[in-house]
Amino acid sequence: MTEMQTLQNFIGGKWVNSKTTEFENVTNPATKEKIARVPLSTKADVDYAVAVAQTAFEQWRQVAVPKRARILFKYQNLVVAHKAELAKIITSENGKNLTEALGEVQRGIENIEFAAGAPSLSMGDSLASIATDVEATNYRYPIGVVAGITPFNFPMMVPCWMFPMAVVLGNTFVLKPSEKTPLLTARLVELFTEAGLPDGVLNIVYGAHDVVNRLGEHPDVKALSFVGSKPVGEYVYKLGSNNLKRVQALTGAKNHTIVLRDADLPEAVKNIVSAAFGSAGERCMACAVVAVEASVADAFVTELQNQTADITMGNGIEDGIFLGPVISAESKARTEKYIEIGIAEGAELVRDGRGEGSDEGYFVGPTIFDRVTPAMTIWQDEIFAPVLSIVRVDDLEAGIALANTSEFANGACLFTNNAAAIRYFREKIDAGMLGINLGVPAPMAFFPFSGWKSSFFGTLHANGKDSIDFYTRKKVVTARYPKAFI
Ligand code: NAD
Repeated sequence: MTEMQTLQNFIGGKWVNSKTTEFENVTNPATKEKIARVPLSTKADVDYAVAVAQTAFEQWRQVAVPKRARILFKYQNLVVAHKAELAKIITSENGKNLTEALGEVQRGIENIEFAAGAPSLSMGDSLASIATDVEATNYRYPIGVVAGITPFNFPMMVPCWMFPMAVVLGNTFVLKPSEKTPLLTARLVELFTEAGLPDGVLNIVYGAHDVVNRLGEHPDVKALSFVGSKPVGEYVYKLGSNNLKRVQALTGAKNHTIVLRDADLPEAVKNIVSAAFGSAGERCMACAVVAVEASVADAFVTELQNQTADITMGNGIEDGIFLGPVISAESKARTEKYIEIGIAEGAELVRDGRGEGSDEGYFVGPTIFDRVTPAMTIWQDEIFAPVLSIVRVDDLEAGIALANTSEFANGACLFTNNAAAIRYFREKIDAGMLGINLGVPAPMAFFPFSGWKSSFFGTLHANGKDSIDFYTRKKVVTARYPKAFI
């Protein structure tokens, strides 16, 4: 038996012990094996990391943008070379299967590739003549030390929405990954250092709420990027705003999918099974509710039962596993509680995932409720587990009206072959990310990503051009060139 690894913070290019006396175990949810100990770092640890990042900022901001971008190119090469290793770490700490983990690594790589385009992406603009002999030019500058606070469900992709772009634009960064899935970020920072990133530009402080609170109030942290649950995101948004920082907080979800009677049902169900139960339903873009047109609802439910009859569950590190565990014992217990509530509130349980999968991990099988109503708790709350609710609706308009009463509005999908219905859906639905005839409108590095309503607090979304605006401030120079000087 090897001794369990205790993680250290990464500050100023070195692994350093936290000053804390409190630690949490990191557990492989497929085996319940304790794979590491993570420190719950202190205010002093954060202060040290921010001071180091602030000092590094003064040098890093002066490095020419193409030179910074070149480090990103090298980083991309290294991450690609370590793809399989990174995916295995994700599967071991998060539980998603290896194919999903590889997909996540690929999304992260695309963020690095997008950020490597910083020299052209972050150009300012100018107008040669805004008045007689007067021109104006808009320049972009980094903002300083930026902090990122990330959730357990995408240990690679979500941090990569933040630090590659923030750093290439000349900021320095303090990352606080989820204490449940901290291991991947350790390899990410090692590879970035190997690619030539100077010390102090990217730092990691492991921990939980104490770290977040200090990052949110520290005067030298100029911006917070948060991704996680709605209550915590709302709290972080208010904390950061009260301390005069710019904040983007991408939060919880309860994503609705509408299936119309003209949709290709087997194909729609195939996509919905993947969207609802893939990654154990622990995606912010997971399908949580399907509103299906009543005339095809029975056929839809039968198809769903057929396609979930033989789902393979187990440790996602093994070949052929579709459904891995949920993240923790608490998450499993919480999911089972929601299933009890669904039954008690009168929904029809057409597939019960309780008791499925081995006791070696935190498994819950695909669970499907039919005839759910918006008054039910399982319709309203984000369960974040492989539990799907079906609502029967009269038509598209009713499906949209229903979805729009949800407090969340992260994503929404429509299955149909009707172009007019697609356009109507696009215009009327409240959500930041829409999918047409697909199950997961996944975030792509090149487009802004975020929800609406309680799924997002802030103005500028993650990714795309929004991320360049979020991680830079602008300076406009207005200059007169009087002819008298010629
Ligand atoms: P979480 O809110 O519990 O944790 C997110 C981060 O906040 C973690 O780093 C955690 O340590 C920290 N945190 C937790 N409690 C805190 C507290 N009381 N005070 C300060 N900080 C605290 O979220 P999670 O369980 O890790 O992730 C799942 C959630 O994230 C789901 O709600 C999911 O929808 C959401 N999510 C949203 C998106 C999106 O793009 N909108 C993407 C991924 C995940």
